[in-house]
Amino acid sequence: MGRRIQVVENIMGANERLAAGNRQMLDAAGVVGLNLMASPGAGKTSLIEHTIRRLGQQVRLAVVDGDIATSIDADRAAAAGAQAIQINTGGECHLDAVMLQAALGQLDLNDLDLLIVENVGNLICPANFALGTHKSVLIASIPEGDDKPYKYPGMYRGVDALVINKIDLLPYIAFDMDYFRRGVAALNPGLATFPLSCRTGEGVEDWLDWVLAQLKHKVRLSPGG
Ligand code: MG
Ligand code: ZN
Repeated sequence: MGRRIQVVENIMGANERLAAGNRQMLDAAGVVGLNLMASPGAGKTSLIEHTIRRLGQQVRLAVVDGDIATSIDADRAAAAGAQAIQINTGGECHLDAVMLQAALGQLDLNDLDLLIVENVGNLICPANFALGTHKSVLIASIPEGDDKPYKYPGMYRGVDALVINKIDLLPYIAFDMDYFRRGVAALNPGLATFPLSCRTGEGVEDWLDWVLAQLKHKVRLSPGG
């Protein structure tokens, strides 16, 4: 048993070191990295499309899309006007730091301000693999149900912002927002939370403001920036 635990620790330690290297690459180029995580169908790609369309004129951004098999999401990001790199994980259910390292090598980071990473749709292991991005964002959605913070505490505990997508469906679905938010608050007090609808556009502005605030913060921290 002890040996098995040792192996897991070595794998995670190697990932942490590679993630630190990715962070250094981003920092050296003054790029802010966001890691978007969610269950399948929550609206990661739709939110990325909104973000590209609305911020693409003022922010130089690229998208790295993790997917088990297809390039559908990267194609959508490219169609919305961003540089898009596809990572096919070959069946792996999360991205890790070595996969992001490979993608960073294909981007000219000095020509970027913002890197959005779309992780594989999964509420469990993506939370355990640091990528080297600066902020982690979880996208929940109304049809998933109001019990998800209680069922996936590891994911809700570790993120820096929470988007609650598909609020246009609230009239049609039994989703107790107070119950949901109590679960989130117990795990991650004061978490920046953005209820919105990618379909109607309601609330998207607040999300965009948060993204821009991350970029401003970064510029203040950058030497000579
Ligand atoms: Mg997607
Ligand atoms: Zn996984």
